[in-house]
Amino acid sequence: MKITSRVLVILLSLGIATQAADQLIVLKAARLFDGKSNTLSQNAVVIVQGDKIVDAGSNLPIPSGAQVIDLGDATLAPGFMDAHTHLTADFSGNYNERRLQQLDLNVSEQAIRATAFARATVEAGFTTVRDMGSRFVASHEFVDVALRNSINKGVIVGPRMLVATKGIGATGGHFDPTGGFRDFLFGREPDYTDGIANSPDEIRKTVRFEVKNGADVIKAAVSGGVLSLGDEVDTPQLTPAEMTALVDESHRLRKRVAVHCHGDQAAREAIEAGVDSIEHGSFMKPETLTMMKKKGAFLTPTLMASEWIMGKLDNYPPVLQAKAKAATAARSEMFRNAVKMGIKISFGTDAAVYPHGQNAKEFKLMVDLGMSAVDALKSATANDAELLGIGQKVGTLEKGKLADVIAMPGDPTFDITATERVSFVMKEGKIIRQGLPTSRGTAEATSSPDVSDPVD
Ligand SMILES: [Zn+2]
Repeated sequence: MKITSRVLVILLSLGIATQAADQLIVLKAARLFDGKSNTLSQNAVVIVQGDKIVDAGSNLPIPSGAQVIDLGDATLAPGFMDAHTHLTADFSGNYNERRLQQLDLNVSEQAIRATAFARATVEAGFTTVRDMGSRFVASHEFVDVALRNSINKGVIVGPRMLVATKGIGATGGHFDPTGGFRDFLFGREPDYTDGIANSPDEIRKTVRFEVKNGADVIKAAVSGGVLSLGDEVDTPQLTPAEMTALVDESHRLRKRVAVHCHGDQAAREAIEAGVDSIEHGSFMKPETLTMMKKKGAFLTPTLMASEWIMGKLDNYPPVLQAKAKAATAARSEMFRNAVKMGIKISFGTDAAVYPHGQNAKEFKLMVDLGMSAVDALKSATANDAELLGIGQKVGTLEKGKLADVIAMPGDPTFDITATERVSFVMKEGKIIRQGLPTSRGTAEATSSPDVSDPVD
C-alpha cells in the first residue's frame, strides 16, 4: 500500500482527529468514484468544511489556507454502506459454542464486544450500516439502539446505524429466540416483546412496539433460515395477511420494511405485499425477480454469509450444513439472473455470520457472479443510500452531502479487491482512520483465515 501523505496538519494516529469546524480540508487522490457515475474521474479533489462536502471533482482549485491531505495513487469514494449487518453479535465461530456463549455472557458484556465490532466496521470503510436485528435470548435489552445512540453522541467510534431492534417473526420461525431449545427452558413462550407475532393484529402491535423502542427500519423473517434449528430454509413463515399488515403498519409509521427471505413462495408474497427489500433471496425464480423489478423492490444478496458458512461447514451441525448447501447452490444462479434482469441490488453482507470488518469481501463475490465493478461500487453507495432513505445526505461525493469519504489504493474498477484495503476513512468530516487500522474486531476475527474458497 503506497500512500504518500503531505499532511499539513498533525492528525491523531488513534481515534478521531480533532479539527476546527470551519477549517477547510482538501482530500486529493489520483482517482474519484463519486457514487453514481459509470467511470472514475482523474485528479480527484474533495473539499470538506465541518461535516459537509463543499465541492468534489477533478482538478478543482485548492482554496488558500486549506489543509491538504494527498492520498496519492488511490481512489476517493463515498463511505461504503452495508445494508445488512448484526453489529451486536458474532456467529462466526463454532455454532454450538456461540449458542452456548449467548447464554453464558451477560448482555452488558455482549454490548461491550459490540463496540469493537462497530469500530472494526467503520475502520474497514463502512461509514453507514443498516443493522438487521439484535436479540439476546431471555433478555429485553435493545443493544443495537444503545450502540447507535452512543455512536451518534460520539461516545464510541462506529458507523452511522439504522437499526431494526428485534426483528419480527413467527413462533418456531427463523427469529424465534428459543427455537431449538427445550420447551419452556426460558420460562415462557416468546411474544411481541421478543419480536414474535402470530396474526395481522399482533404484527401491527409488534411493529408499534419496535418503533416505540427506537427501530429505524422494520425487519421480519418471512421464510425459514440457514442458521436456525427449528425450521426448513425455504418454507413461508408469515401469511400474506400478516405481510400486508407488516408493510402497511411500517409504512404508516414511515419505516421501510426489509424481509429475511430465502424461499420463492415467501418472496412472491412479500413482494406482492410491498416490502422494500428482500434479504438473501436464495431460491427466487426468474418470475419472482420479474415481479420484484415491477415493484421496484431491492435485493440485498448477502453473498458473504453463505460463502463463510460453506468455507467452514464443520462449524455447523449437519442439519444446518444441509440448509447452507441448498441455499448456496441456489443463490448464485439467482444473483446472476438478478444482475442480468437489472434488479435494484443493494450491498449487504450479514456481518456477524463472518467476522466483523471483512464486509468488503462481498464486492469480489458480486463481481465474480457477473456484476460490473462499478455497479458493485454503486450498490454500496448510491443504491444503499436510496434503499435506506438517506440519499439526500450520503451515498455520493457531492456538494452539500455529509463528508463520508474513504480512500482505497489503486483503481477498484481494475481490481475490485482494492475495496478490502481501505486506507483512509472520514465520517462526517472527522478522520476516523489514516493508515493501518487501530482495530480488527475480535480475537476470533484476526485468527480466522480469509474467505477464499469458491462455493459455486
Ligand atoms: Zn441477517
